[in-house]
Amino acid sequence: MKSSKIKTDCPVCGPGPTAPVGECHQLPVVKCCSCELMFVGECNEVAETEDFFRSDHVDNEDDTQKFYVNFRKDSLQREAAVISRLKPDGGRILDVGTASGYFLKQFAEAKNWDAVGVEPSAVSTKFAKEKFGLNVHEGYLSEQKFVDESFDVVTSLDAFNCHRTPNEDLSEIFRVLKPGGVFAIEIPGQSYRMLTGSGMLCRLFFGCSLRLNAGVNFYFYTTRALVAMAERAGFELSDSYAESTPINGNIVSRIAKQAYFSATAMLYRMTAGQVHYAPKEFLIFRKPEVATLKMPTAATLTDKSMKKAA
Ligand SMILES: [Zn+2]
Repeated sequence: MKSSKIKTDCPVCGPGPTAPVGECHQLPVVKCCSCELMFVGECNEVAETEDFFRSDHVDNEDDTQKFYVNFRKDSLQREAAVISRLKPDGGRILDVGTASGYFLKQFAEAKNWDAVGVEPSAVSTKFAKEKFGLNVHEGYLSEQKFVDESFDVVTSLDAFNCHRTPNEDLSEIFRVLKPGGVFAIEIPGQSYRMLTGSGMLCRLFFGCSLRLNAGVNFYFYTTRALVAMAERAGFELSDSYAESTPINGNIVSRIAKQAYFSATAMLYRMTAGQVHYAPKEFLIFRKPEVATLKMPTAATLTDKSMKKAA
């Protein structure tokens, strides 16, 4: 079947002018002229992308072990510790894009957590179920029809860039979270990404203008863009942390990566995230308590009653 390409719009601003940035995997990468968010300007049909993640993106268990357990362990342990601190009494957690399940396993093993995963890849779902005994739904979040306000925590770890319908998915996450619930998301650091994946060095070493894994990633979020989208869905940003890409390779490479991460994480902390060159970022959003949003205070009630009466 010959795939046709469809034009995509900025998920923050909607349809509008864009400027070309370059090409990656034969796909055009553009920048929104209004908010400067970079994204893949033309993509396959959404259903075609979804099929790709169901069957082709991860096609063997060895890669799942290597890329989604071994390489990711440190980050996933740090992130699980943050969630446990935020919700010491536990609850029901949903991980969207479960991958190997290593993150979720840390909650499934704890007595006070009920852990649920959603993962499109058939291979990864099987891996997470068999290796860690997890409750993982194969497919996409939108297909699950979870009950309203049925989770205390929803997580999306290094997966949101792969979502083709990010605004719809944020609304769905908001819907299934309980008021006061936590939405925690890990995204690549955009400055780091451009530092390592574009420009002269990229051309010299890799023979391409951009290394953004387009076709697997579709939107290259800045913190500002993601926060704007999450706030529009109803979330409030409550905290953020610098995160790292895997510290792997030979000893020299590991020392260099660790030093870079330590330095950029310190800078991130000192500037409250304003100076962000860290490889990744872990953002914590809250769904506001309905009571504090919707319940009128005594003062507003009086005010309204008076207006009605007038
Ligand atoms: Zn925009």
